[in-house]
Amino acid sequence: MRARITILPGDGIGPEVTAEAVRVLQTVAAIHGYRFEFEEHAIGGVAIKSSGSPLPRTTLDAALASDAVLLGAVGSPEFDRVPPNQRPEAGLLLLRSALGGYANLRPAIAYSSIAACSPVRTEVACGADILIVRELLGGLYFGEPRGIDSDVATNTMRYSVEEIERVARVAFEAARKRRGKVTSVDKANVLETSQLWRQTVIRVSQDYPDVTLEHLYVDACAMHLIANPRRFDVLLTENLFGDILSDEAAVITGSLGMLASASIGGEVGLYEPVHGSAPDIVGQNAANPCGAIASVAMMLRYSFGLEQDASDIELAIQDVLEAGYRTPDIAEGTGGYVVTTSEFGELICQAVTEIADMRHAYHAV
Ligand code: NAD
Repeated sequence: MRARITILPGDGIGPEVTAEAVRVLQTVAAIHGYRFEFEEHAIGGVAIKSSGSPLPRTTLDAALASDAVLLGAVGSPEFDRVPPNQRPEAGLLLLRSALGGYANLRPAIAYSSIAACSPVRTEVACGADILIVRELLGGLYFGEPRGIDSDVATNTMRYSVEEIERVARVAFEAARKRRGKVTSVDKANVLETSQLWRQTVIRVSQDYPDVTLEHLYVDACAMHLIANPRRFDVLLTENLFGDILSDEAAVITGSLGMLASASIGGEVGLYEPVHGSAPDIVGQNAANPCGAIASVAMMLRYSFGLEQDASDIELAIQDVLEAGYRTPDIAEGTGGYVVTTSEFGELICQAVTEIADMRHAYHAV
């Protein structure tokens, strides 16, 4: 197994969490004899400062030529006052568009070991296991026309049947491998794009008679997500709704730092934690690397077909949390030992090695 992986640490805590995720990939590679070649490039605020562009050509070319891309985070308060197309976040949107991954998978799992750090009551959150499938290349984030014209600003929400259908299929296929339910989120009582969304999802569902489909308006969904998160299996949403609902889902898991994502369906898979650059904790070695580490598990699963290795990393995260180790964001009210970002990464590497050794010993018997 050989693969070229582009690493884009980005801004803020991005470099801190991607360093740990790369360490986990190196551990997996050492255990199984895989050859992963890593090439690091600039994106976001650091790229603007070094080259004047949030997505330099060299970064884009390297990403397109690789087998998978791992991104940390982009964004910095120093760019808060510049227009959207000159901000670090523009680099991320351009990259997503160029790589073509239209389906953004965001699992949100409420582990019992850290359930107490969620503001949602343990008996409500605990056991929630949701896969958010967010459309990533359409809707308000990409629609034209857009812009500010003196005292009027415009953004366009636009969706085609093709864009809806392809992401809906990803959601139904995923539900088949899970608990067989898709909740499609829209605002069909107000928006035409949502009416087309709902009609198209219903049509696609006819190819998946084994999957239960329900529809929720986005406002009701936001309420149910907090009130009863266990009712959800796969949550299918357009771009903006998915962005907002996945941050809400993070509250159920205990921290934004827990959430991973995979953007699939394009030429090259893009893997990134859901969180941003967290300027408030940058440089403290206090960021939670779980989202970045779980993102490389998704990379192994979706880009390289290494399901067992992906599950080993996910199990390692669960084991380390159950052993009581926590970064500060998930420490409150859960007991255990507070560790740094790098200590947490090291613990995951040890756990991955132990899990692989145990399986090896089991097969040798
Ligand atoms: P954020 O996700 O950076 O932080 C929100 C809160 O969650 C902060 O209190 C932060 O400390 C905490 N947090 C986030 N990740 C954490 C982690 N791994 N471990 C521990 N705590 C963590 O969101 P924000 O503050 O709204 O945005 C900051 C910057 O990041 C902005 O410039 C924004 O545009 C950008 N952003 C980028 C992405 C991305 O790169 N995908 C996503 C969201 C926001």
